[in-house]
Amino acid sequence: MDEGATIRSLVGALRRRESTAVELVDRYLQRIDRLNSSLNCFCETYPERAHAMALQIDQQLAAGDEIGPLAGVPIAVKDNIVTDFGHTRCGSRFLENYQSPYASTAVKRLEQAGAIIIGKTNCDEFGMGSSTEHCAFGAARNPWDITRVPGGSSGGSAAAVAADLCCAALGSDTGGSIRQPAAFCGIVGAKPSYGRVSRYGLVAFGSSLDQIGPLARTVQDAALLLGVLAGVDRHDSTCADRPVPDYVAQIDTPTKPIRIGVPKQFLSDDNDPGVNAAVRDAIAVYRSHGAAIIEIDLPLSEYGIATYYVIAPAEASSNLARYDGIRYGRRAELGSADDLLDLYARSRAEGFGPEVQRRIMLGTYVLSAGYYDAYYKRALQVRRLITEELDAAFAQCDALLGPTAPTVAFGLGEKADPLSMYLCDVYTTIANIAGICAISIPAGFVSIDGKQLPVGIQIQCKAFDEATMFRIARMFEAATDHHTHRPDIDDPAGSTDVAR
Ligand code: GLN
Repeated sequence: MDEGATIRSLVGALRRRESTAVELVDRYLQRIDRLNSSLNCFCETYPERAHAMALQIDQQLAAGDEIGPLAGVPIAVKDNIVTDFGHTRCGSRFLENYQSPYASTAVKRLEQAGAIIIGKTNCDEFGMGSSTEHCAFGAARNPWDITRVPGGSSGGSAAAVAADLCCAALGSDTGGSIRQPAAFCGIVGAKPSYGRVSRYGLVAFGSSLDQIGPLARTVQDAALLLGVLAGVDRHDSTCADRPVPDYVAQIDTPTKPIRIGVPKQFLSDDNDPGVNAAVRDAIAVYRSHGAAIIEIDLPLSEYGIATYYVIAPAEASSNLARYDGIRYGRRAELGSADDLLDLYARSRAEGFGPEVQRRIMLGTYVLSAGYYDAYYKRALQVRRLITEELDAAFAQCDALLGPTAPTVAFGLGEKADPLSMYLCDVYTTIANIAGICAISIPAGFVSIDGKQLPVGIQIQCKAFDEATMFRIARMFEAATDHHTHRPDIDDPAGSTDVAR
């Protein structure tokens, strides 16, 4: 099977003059043209801009100029990270015509490193969901089986990378939205520690939980991207002023004997058997490479979902209050409204989808007088306890290993009730709650109805210890070949046309 290009291989080919940046961009754009109607992972592309930038890079190469570490690499950006070109719709009717006047720090840093932003990718509305079905512009599909979801909310980014419609992508992760789609699509997805990457220009969902991070084909590519993205930014006061290690240089350096903690709660009987089998195989791989495997008890981790689904909606209800139809976005017919409040209500009812409305109502409820102490304050207390429990775990081990999600990719429309969708996040929310870093890497396949569906494992490390996280992830990747398999979507006859 074709492994698909990595950032390393593309930049290498450009430097050796085996291909030009313009050729590369053309190749990806043609692939998008051919396959996006099946996958609906891109919401828009920027062919002219991408061409112009590629031309510039080819000229720099021809002149022998120094080029950036991502020079000529086509990268996609989730639809909730602003660019000062094109639209940023956040998968929402509300922002259907929104064009940001400024660019996010993450996108600026990618471009400064030479990356070419090829397009924006589909996501659940404002990042609220685990399947990329809650999107005003149609659901995205999983390239391994287009009757299944790619995961979410960064499902468009994950599907695009897996299908080789771009070399890597940016996603955002509030409770699992980079890692779970990475797992469902058989690629690598990393959620950096809170404060590692600037949130300037990331449309806010849960401000104390949100982080931008990379989706890529290899651990090395993800590490390279994080090195470009990370670091202090005066536009985001929550972005940490800490040195950014060279993640790539350190990635193959073994340190002290590694201690891998396996929380017993993570190997639940409720998981798909194939998921647990992949985790057990991974434990065996680490053990055979000399890692000590330590059983860890995280009794409070089971409160992660409940805590997250109080804090995230509370913050969302506050963040989304700005969408009033006056300053931003969609405005209802003026004549239809009785007064200003009615106009707000109508604009919001028209512009927001049902899941976003549900979150706003839930968030407003848990913050309201009389319920604040019982729900929101309580959730903050549990957040503290979960963080302390993880601190204690990291005193015993260097990393926690477990599944990224309890299942493999599920069918479109299969999780119709909100609670069953929320339960997809059972293993991912604690990293956001505690602000630690976490990565999902490919760990095998489960065969269902003749289709191979990827399984991801998650490695979580303490806050700002991304260097260890990448090293441990890379160790597994170097010992296995799961990441080299690609979905076979090149024959569109094998898939039904699912254009929206
Ligand atoms: N699936 C989770 C939610 O719906 C997480 C989303 C995210 O990380 N953006 O809130």
